[in-house]
Parts: sequence; C-alpha cells; structure tokens
Amino acid sequence: MNDRYAPDGRVDVMEDSIPFYQPVGQECELFERAFRHRLPLLIKGPTGCGKTRFVAHMAARLGRPLITVACHDDLTAADLVGRHLIGESQTYWADGPLTRAVRQGAICYLDEIVEARKDTTVVLHPLTDDRRILPIDRTGEQLHAPETFMLVVSYNPGYQNLLKSLKPSTRQRFVALTFDFPPSAVETRIVTHESGVEQAMAQRLVEVAQRLRRLAGIDLDEAISTRLLVYAANLIRAGCEPVMACIAAMVEPLTDDADTAAALKEVIRAGF
Ligand code: ADP
Repeated sequence: MNDRYAPDGRVDVMEDSIPFYQPVGQECELFERAFRHRLPLLIKGPTGCGKTRFVAHMAARLGRPLITVACHDDLTAADLVGRHLIGESQTYWADGPLTRAVRQGAICYLDEIVEARKDTTVVLHPLTDDRRILPIDRTGEQLHAPETFMLVVSYNPGYQNLLKSLKPSTRQRFVALTFDFPPSAVETRIVTHESGVEQAMAQRLVEVAQRLRRLAGIDLDEAISTRLLVYAANLIRAGCEPVMACIAAMVEPLTDDADTAAALKEVIRAGF
C-alpha cells in the first residue's frame, strides 16, 4: 500500500493496484533506468498533465511504496525529515515523510518542489549525489539510502519567477523529463479510459480543448489540462449536457474575467 502525505501530515492509503497511465513517449523506460541506476528524477510540466499519475504508476510497476509530499510555501526541512514531538511524559522523535521513504527504500515524490522553503535543499543535496545519505542533525543519525530509494521531484515552470525557481546547483543533480499535454490521439485514449465516455465524445472534447488552448489573446493562469477534460467527460457521463459540462469544467474554474469566459464559451458552443 502507498502512503500519501497531505500538507497537514494526514496520510491517505491508496489502493494496491497499478494505476492506469498512458505513456506519451519513452518516459516509463527512462524512469525505470533512473530507478535502477539510483538517479533522482525531476519532472517539469503544467498542472494536470499526468505527472502524479505517472509517478504512482511507476512506483506500483516497480513494486515500491510511494510517499508523496505536496510541497507548499511553509514546508521546511524539518517537515520532511522529522521532529521531536511532545508525548505524555516525554518527547519522542517522529520521522518525516522523506526519512520514512529512505528507511523503507520507497519512492519519495515531492510535488511542486519550488514551493518549499529553501532550507529543504540542505537535506536534498547529500541524498541526490553519490553519497545518498540523509543526515538527521537532531538525532545525530546518518541514514544511507537503500538501493530502492528514489527521489522524484516536480514543478511547473509556468509558475516560475525569480524567487521560486530551482537553484542550478540543485537541478543539476537530477535527470529530467519535460511533460506537456499529450497529442490528440493519446489524450483521447486517456479521457475515454478515465471517464468511460464514448471515444467519439472524448475525441470531440479533446478537439475543443485544443482549440481553446490555441486561442490567441487569452491569458489564463492555468492551462486547460487533461484533468479538466476528464472532469468534463465525467460530467457528461453523469448525464450533463456537453456545452454545460465544458463550461463548468474548463471555463469557470480558470477565469473570473467576463470577456475571457465569453471567448472560451464561444469556442465550446461552436464545437458541439
Ligand atoms: P499533475 O500531477 O501533472 O498535476 P495528474 O497526474 O494529477 O497531473 O493528472 C491529472 C489527471 O489527468 C489524472 O488523474 C488522470 O485522470 C489524467 N491523466 C493525465 N495524463 C494521463 C496519462 N498519461 N495517463 C493516464 N491518465 C492521465
């Protein structure tokens, strides 16, 4: 079973089967080679393009537990490594998710790593070079990562600004993959599989999304992702009329600007 750590430390237990992942290129082979050669992996790409699903799929394929940390701007090295907590009569040490992953030889996925505080790089650096160690200053321990431990990090270059970018000295420790929204045929297969809509409907949705993505002069903070297409398809499967489903899944979540929304809706109406 896989542990998924939410930012508040909650742990959700996921099913023990291999999650569906539709490859776009040679990314599965690259992941596997990186794993076998104990190389850390950096995945770049927009939100909702399949990064998390890919890592979950590969962890299950390789038979390793997966520990996922959704990074946020308050996340510190101590949140990753662990801290002393106050018990009934004394304090005790509690491993953080990174430490647990090293001890278990798990795959540790730090999602949106650039959000985390800068002090996290201090613990990542010795883990991501050939030392593969995790020093735990507070307990004096120095953990050697087992062969099956793998660090995977991701970020969305679209969000990047000068304050929130990965330092060159950090990024050059990883092998890297760039993800983007998949080509039409692949995205159609994903939408069909994920939602259960007819292939023709999935294809229509993908065509509309592609037209929306290409729309000139529209500046959305988030692109129309595969995730949103799957949402639209799920609404349609649940009986929602397609134009309404697309507006609810692909327009309203992305903009509050009336002109932008009107332009997007026009493309959707023309598509059905
Ligand atoms: P990210 O981590 O890049 O934000 P996710 O991995 O959460 O995105 O993907 C969002 C959703 O899109 C997934 O839950 C899945 O339904 C679908 N998806 C996107 N790409 C793929 C893919 N290649 N194979 C299978 N599902 C995909």
